[in-house]
Parts: sequence; structure tokens; C-alpha cells
Amino acid sequence: QSKADGRNAYHFYVAAMDAEVQARKAIERDMRLALGTPQLELHYQPLLDLKSGRIVGCEALLRWNHPQLGWVPPAQFIPVIERTDLIIPLGRWILHQACRQGRAWRDAGLGPMTIAVNLSPVQFRHSQGLVAMVTDILDQTGLAPEALQLEITEGIAMQNVDSSIEVLKALRALGVTISIDDFGTGYSSLNYLKRFPVDKLKIDRSFVIDIGQHPDNEAVVKAIVDLGHSLRTRVNVEGVESRTQLDFLLAHGVDEAQGYYFSRPVPADAFAALARDPRDWLAADPEDGG
Ligand code: C2E
Ligand code: MG
Ligand code: MG
Ligand code: MG
Repeated sequence: QSKADGRNAYHFYVAAMDAEVQARKAIERDMRLALGTPQLELHYQPLLDLKSGRIVGCEALLRWNHPQLGWVPPAQFIPVIERTDLIIPLGRWILHQACRQGRAWRDAGLGPMTIAVNLSPVQFRHSQGLVAMVTDILDQTGLAPEALQLEITEGIAMQNVDSSIEVLKALRALGVTISIDDFGTGYSSLNYLKRFPVDKLKIDRSFVIDIGQHPDNEAVVKAIVDLGHSLRTRVNVEGVESRTQLDFLLAHGVDEAQGYYFSRPVPADAFAALARDPRDWLAADPEDGG
């Protein structure tokens, strides 16, 4: 590689960096304007109980309908917002909105539904604020704490083990449940994991993708199911897209599944319609209409 190539690469790098900084500033500016407007919405993806074949809850997922760009995926803006102070009001809005919706569903007779809400690492690190915020929002919305599940990633929990355990204990003392998201992608020490007060492990989608084709990933799924059960947690698998995958999960004792096979994340009304549908979701291919 010549010197000139190196310099060009550097110039290219600087230009790209500048573009990235500009893009981040634009996202932050636009999100400031979006907060509190209908540009932001939560969608809800069903959680399927694999014993009963019924929808037992949902995961709330943030959606941003940007006035110029249209729908922007959370993977594009959440990491940017997490680097700003905006993540605190945004996180509060998400939790409030999800709890309010959960309460409204309960009032409308939808039956006991768990609403799972993702917590950002920044929210989790503001532990005092977090516990107070969850307490306030449950109070304001009147949602039963048992109906709220908070999702944290493996990485966040492992960063500062002792203080994480304290925060999780405080949250659980309120009555909410805790799940570890994207499980298997981080570096959990099993030694720590057994000390963590958690209620659910969510096996990351990457392990499910080639079920039926890749014996190694199947072995990992089986091992995590056993691990979760020996720690007395429920085990969820996310990203289920096919009957083959579902059959594997049913055969290996997975408790709960979530994925496009059943439903994509959908607006609140559409979720309520799915949850009221009395069908056995495991009986046949949902796309075949039962
Ligand atoms: P996550 O918490 O692991 O959420 C699951 C993601 O997998 C969602 O993507 C969901 O739409 C997607 N998914 C579910 N089933 C399938 C499937 O069968 N196939 C495929 N290809 N994808 C599936 P989404 O909504 O784009 O969110 C991506 C990530 O952004 C989330 O991952 C979460 O880390 C973050 N996120 C989303 N909403 C929020 C939020 O309200 N707060 C925070 N802090 N993070 C959020
Ligand atoms: Mg999640
Ligand atoms: Mg996940
Ligand atoms: Mg994931």
C-alpha cells in the first residue's frame, strides 16, 4: 500500500467521520422535536406461551416516523440517543406509554398480559433514578407491577455485577420481573449469572436463524434452555420465523417464543386484536389461517 493510498484513506476516514458526526447531530436535533409528538409510537410484538399456545404478553418496541425520512429503525437512532441526555426523557416516555397501554388493556378486559420494556444501559446506570422512575410510573398509570417486565442486556448487567444485583433486587421488590435480553451474545460468567435475580432469559435471534441446518447452534439453544431451567428462569426465544424453528423449540422445552412467524411488532390496536384471537397459535401455520 502506497503512502498516497494511506493519505486518501485518511481523508476518506475524516470525511466519513464528519458525516457521521453531522448525522448524529441531526438525529439528536430531530428527536428533541419528536419527543411528545405522534412521531414516536410504541409497537407491540406478541409473546407466545409454548405450553398453552396463547399470547401471554408483548414486547414494546419504539417506532419513529420521521417527517422527512419516514420510519427509522431503532438500531439507527437509539445508540445515538443513548450518547445524549435525551435518553432519560425518552426512556421515561417509553415506560410511561407502555404502562399506560398495559393498564388500558387490563381495563378493557384483555386479561393478564405482561408488557416487556427494554431498558437502555444509560437508564440502568442511573440506578437511583431508575427505581424511583419505575415506582412513579407504576403509581401514575396504575399498572400492576407484575404486569411489567424490564429487559436488560447481558452486557449491562455484567458491567458492574454487585451494583447490578442491587438494582435488580430493588426493581423486583417493586413486583416487576426482569429478563435478560439477547442472551448468549455477551460474556456472562455463569458464576455471576446464578447470583442474578432474573425471571427470564431471552435467547438471541442469532442462535435461531439456522435451526434445522446448523447443529452447533441447536446445541447452544439446548444448553441455554437447560441452564435457564436449572436457574429456575423462564426461557424465551426471539426471532422465530419458521415452523421448523418452532417445532425444534417445542421439542426442547422452550417456554416462550416471539418472532415474525407469529407476528411482527404491531400498533396497540392490532396487538389487542391478536391477543383476543382465541386460536391455538401452535396448532398450524398462522399464515395458513389456522
Ligand atoms: P430487542 O430488544 O432484542 O428486540 C427484538 C428485535 O427483534 C426487534 O427489532 C424486533 O422487531 C426484532 N424481531 C422480532 N422477531 C423477529 C423475527 O422473527 N425476525 C427478525 N428479523 N427480527 C425480529 P427492533 O424493533 O428493530 O428493535 C431493535 C433493538 O432496538 C431492540 O432489540 C432493542 O435493543 C432496541 N429497542 C427497540 N425499542 C426500544 C426501546 O423502547 N427502548 C430501548 N432502550 N431499546 C429499544
Ligand atoms: Mg428486547
Ligand atoms: Mg432481544
Ligand atoms: Mg435482539
